[in-house]
Amino acid sequence: MSHPRILIWNEFRHERTTEAVRRLYPDGIHEALAAPLRTAGFPVATATLEQPEQGLSEAALAGADVLIWWGHAAHGEVADEAVERVHRHVLGGLGLIVLHSAHYSKIFRRLMGTTCSLGWRVDGARERLWVVAPAHPIAEGLGPHFEIAAEEMYSEFFDIPEPDELVLVSWFKGGEVFRSGCAWRRGFGRVFYFRPGHETFPTYHQAPVQRVIANAVRWAAQAGRREAAPDNRRCAPLEA
Ligand code: ZN
Repeated sequence: MSHPRILIWNEFRHERTTEAVRRLYPDGIHEALAAPLRTAGFPVATATLEQPEQGLSEAALAGADVLIWWGHAAHGEVADEAVERVHRHVLGGLGLIVLHSAHYSKIFRRLMGTTCSLGWRVDGARERLWVVAPAHPIAEGLGPHFEIAAEEMYSEFFDIPEPDELVLVSWFKGGEVFRSGCAWRRGFGRVFYFRPGHETFPTYHQAPVQRVIANAVRWAAQAGRREAAPDNRRCAPLEA
């Protein structure tokens, strides 16, 4: 698969209500995420909470290989039916990339089965992300570490199940550490959580961050879409 089909979903609230966020992301975080992926040749569709079926129709999900999710203020407004559809598609092989404050989204918490709670502080201090799995496809081209000059701080304990693969660990100027790039398998699907991306900082305009997201799309798409999630079945013996 050379170019997986991407659906970027964004609740699209802060960009419309907060001038500082609109200045950074005038067309929405979803369009800022989409631009470098389109330049790299990926077919990208975008969807927002205000659209019919909250942008998460059966057709929209069936037409994607990887779903990228950004949410913060409106997690509770995402309909349970939409979460159910996304969950079913992920188990059927749809890749899911969960960004920043979407750690608290219904879909991520459902897939993880834990609270997904963490510590946080919006102080705009420096973050350094260390690559702890240099041979992992999501780490390709990153080098040993990269920095973001100003970000929100997230700290442990991050209440997630042990990642199947841990790719990135963050250090923050305040002394905290955090598991910032975590990968899991769920059903036939692959899930990647990537920490950076607070809405008041220009994080998604930065090349290493864009690189991680593009790498994660390729990795998540490798699972391949199936007709359905794994099913329960009666098995005849293979040997007499
Ligand atoms: Zn944030």
